[in-house]
Amino acid sequence: MNPNSNQLHFILIPLLAQGHMIPMIDIAYRLAEQHKVVSLVTTPLNAARNSESIQRAAESGLQIRVIQIPFECRKVGLPEGCENLDIIPSCDLIRNFYKAMHEMQRPLEEKLQKLSPPASCIISDKCISWTSQTAEKFKIPRIVFHGMSCFSLLASHNIKLHNAHLAVASSTEPFSVPGMPYDIQIAKQQLPGSFVALPDLEDIRDQMQEAESSAFGVVVNTFSDLEHQCIDYYKKAINKRVWCTGPVSLCHKETKNKFVRGNKASISDANCLEWLNNIKPRSAIYVCLGSQCRLITSQLIELALGLEASNHPFIWAIKTGDKWTELENWLVESKFEDRVKERGLLIKGWAPQMLILSHPSTRGFLTHCGWNSTIESISCGIPMITWPQFAEQFLNEKQVVEVLKIGVRVGVDIPVRFGDEEKVGALVNRHDITSAVNILMDEGEEAEKRRKRAKRLEEMAKKAVTAGGSSENDLSLLIQDIGNSLYSV
Ligand code: UDP
Repeated sequence: MNPNSNQLHFILIPLLAQGHMIPMIDIAYRLAEQHKVVSLVTTPLNAARNSESIQRAAESGLQIRVIQIPFECRKVGLPEGCENLDIIPSCDLIRNFYKAMHEMQRPLEEKLQKLSPPASCIISDKCISWTSQTAEKFKIPRIVFHGMSCFSLLASHNIKLHNAHLAVASSTEPFSVPGMPYDIQIAKQQLPGSFVALPDLEDIRDQMQEAESSAFGVVVNTFSDLEHQCIDYYKKAINKRVWCTGPVSLCHKETKNKFVRGNKASISDANCLEWLNNIKPRSAIYVCLGSQCRLITSQLIELALGLEASNHPFIWAIKTGDKWTELENWLVESKFEDRVKERGLLIKGWAPQMLILSHPSTRGFLTHCGWNSTIESISCGIPMITWPQFAEQFLNEKQVVEVLKIGVRVGVDIPVRFGDEEKVGALVNRHDITSAVNILMDEGEEAEKRRKRAKRLEEMAKKAVTAGGSSENDLSLLIQDIGNSLYSV
């Protein structure tokens, strides 16, 4: 190993979206635990959301710093304070959002000039292409972070390479994904947004692709035992270094650390724990459709009624976005909370997801299949009900249900992309929800087998991130590769 590697300084630049920032902060923890200096680049609002998490890292002696750069909302035509994709009011503003992120380049480079120890490496979100110019200027490697599994990265890579999605007559007709270790069928309409033509964002996508092709390597939040064949195939497909260092969320061992992760929770830790401690072990279903959920009120009402009819204890994390008042009115008028108060807990806003998933009272997770939620559930041994909505979530559903066999589909085939929510309408009715919950939570043989497989994966996940485990080894290798790359310059 390079004798100077203790001085390595990693610059982490996440996309300003919860599903991208949270795992990047977990990666910061993992690197800092290896005695590396880490600087997280973000904006004031996002720094505030994560201040307690960073503060706790500092108190435990981890060298995680924050480089704060103002976000130029007004200059690019965004509403003031619109510093995270979860509060952007319309999909028409995504281009402006990227512009504001690009505005961060110059002030960041000025700060990097004065940094001590100097920057050794940039770990950049795939979506931030200008970081490749920054890395070049500072003559340091740039590593890409996608926030997805190797299964979905490989599937998307192969579909694009072979244009497999263009060989089908309709968007609903399933086709086989080429070059996978197992047969996977998917319909064109279920593919990630990158397969959908968006003329307004095409140039931004091309820049991301170009930046990725020149990257030093890719870091993935996964672990070898979970998808080793896909990892091998993916490494060959992209012909780059791939380090699999997950599940990164397992870096938080203390309850308080799990509680403060990602944002200020909309419930106190005492209340959340009291509720969980007062129900039977392994009895509750946790319901959360991610940080970007914009489902319409009629769909959320069906979800509420489906949970009520299932008769299982539940925790439902509801995003309080722009349509919140409508749902809040329904909750009041229907006295829903009164009706379910013996066994239902509603968290209106941010839920401490890792704390809930890792609690012994949790038995199942109804998820939108964002990769973070998926791997967090796996890391806690919790089987899932899958309700994919957009991005690569339908691919994640395939992995959970068909490959890992730890999930039950709620039964959606149609995506709900940002801006299409009203047009698509309610896709899942209360009976679908009740039935999926009952199948997952059941005592029968199939449900037991599913739980056993999930438990086995949890054990493998925990092993991967302990000394000598595959993810620990990959993390050491990543650090070593960066040390060597600087030494050889
Ligand atoms: N999350 C959370 N509380 C919430 C909503 C989300 O802690 O109320 C966290 C969750 O644990 C995960 C991230 O936010 O780490 C969401 O990422 P994911 O990839 O699952 O979905 P996205 O929000 O990007 O669609």
